[in-house]
Amino acid sequence: MDITIKAAAKINLLLDLTSVLENGYHSIYTVMQSVDIFDKVTVALTEDRTISLSCSESSVPTDRRNTAYKAAEGFFEYLKKENKGVSIHIEKHIPSQAGMAGGSADAAAVIRALNILYEANLSEAEQFAIGEKIGADVPFCIGGGTRLCLNTGEVMAQIPNLPECFFVIVKPSQGVSTKEAYKSFDSAKWIRHPDRDGFLYAAKHSDLKGICSKAANVFEQVIEVPDRAVIKGEMRNCGAILSLMTGSGSAVFGLFERESDAADCAERLRKKFKIVFTAKPLPKGLFPE
Ligand code: ATP
Repeated sequence: MDITIKAAAKINLLLDLTSVLENGYHSIYTVMQSVDIFDKVTVALTEDRTISLSCSESSVPTDRRNTAYKAAEGFFEYLKKENKGVSIHIEKHIPSQAGMAGGSADAAAVIRALNILYEANLSEAEQFAIGEKIGADVPFCIGGGTRLCLNTGEVMAQIPNLPECFFVIVKPSQGVSTKEAYKSFDSAKWIRHPDRDGFLYAAKHSDLKGICSKAANVFEQVIEVPDRAVIKGEMRNCGAILSLMTGSGSAVFGLFERESDAADCAERLRKKFKIVFTAKPLPKGLFPE
């Protein structure tokens, strides 16, 4: 018995770090958006009492370090159930070190798939609880859509779906390690924080221009990605009403009101960069095939 789930990537429309928690983690304040770029995750039940994992991308670890592996372990631990055997295959399309939550999306898909295969009937809240132990973005990837996520990602609120718009997303060749990004943030002398209330007000009123004028990512102030200025410049020239780095980078997205502008922009950027996507916002994060 197996099941294949398409797990969506995300971008951050707003990303702020607000404080450091008692456990040393940063408290995040972010609005994330699912987009239609997917990893395909196939989970099958076997009888060998192990978790085996394969991935189409050779640079991704296939052992305990893989978030999908951790998700399977977390599922059995939460249910206090014995693992009778699971095999996972990840067909990778979401780039790594991009700030697009590729690893988190895979973990989310495994939790959802095992919930179905084991007929565990876990509520979404229970699936979030398994996910938050694996990574801050995993609960979001399970729920998806447009959500405000706080603290270490375990506090979430759904906000209205984005009005119709179109994205171009470029992953420059330089990646950014999330750990290094937080280090750079900690050593920054001064950070300009975004107008979070203004963003939420615009989001609540589905005011796309307002959302774009308040959108911001504090990591842009502390992480240098040499290609970012070139990408942003091209996006603006093509009519983007917003261009911003996602997560801790290095991918940059442009938001367009017209699909044709996004398509033209992607075509131009493909002449300079290898990894260029066009994408649309999605109302959820996981899609059984
Ligand atoms: P985020 O937006 O959550 O910061 P990211 O852009 O840092 O994501 P990921 O694709 O989540 O990128 O992977 C970061 C690192 O995690 C990779 O370099 C890889 O070694 C490791 N990793 C573990 N599990 C996975 C997985 N299932 N898919 C991709 N990378 C994984």
